Amino acid sequence: FRYEATVRIGGDIGDVKRRFEHLLIHIQRDKRVDILQTSLILKNPPFGFFEQPDFYNSLILLETKISPFNFLKYTLYLEKRFGRKRSFKNAPRTLDIDIIFFDFFKIKSLKLTVPHWDWQNRVSVTIPLIYLGRVKK
Ligand code: AMP
Repeated sequence: FRYEATVRIGGDIGDVKRRFEHLLIHIQRDKRVDILQTSLILKNPPFGFFEQPDFYNSLILLETKISPFNFLKYTLYLEKRFGRKRSFKNAPRTLDIDIIFFDFFKIKSLKLTVPHWDWQNRVSVTIPLIYLGRVKK
């Protein structure tokens, strides 16, 4: 395993916590990825589009041998695999996966920005990060 990645998962349609469990099992079966730690699950109000259920969010810390852009493809595949349909910005969703950090990479491209452009302002990231012991309180 070459890279350490921090990934945020979220969703607000159906039984999200159960879907998270299935997702983790799915990832664990992949030999290219090794899950190191998962955070607590936070319940957050929606933003942008408010007429939808609260979101559940969690962070996964993992190691992978997949390079950054292929890892993005992998996360997009996982979103599809777990039923994500893209409709409009901030729409309700079964599974959203965001790459928050990818090792020490700094990437700013059309397809991928890491660290995630707004991670410092998202409680769905900062609180689980403290839980994972990744930031000083
Ligand atoms: P969203 O609809 O919010 O899930 O945005 C998905 C798109 O954001 C993907 O197709 C990616 O190309 C792009 N993107 C840019 N940076 C990231 C990132 N750090 N993690 C996940 N997707 C990203």
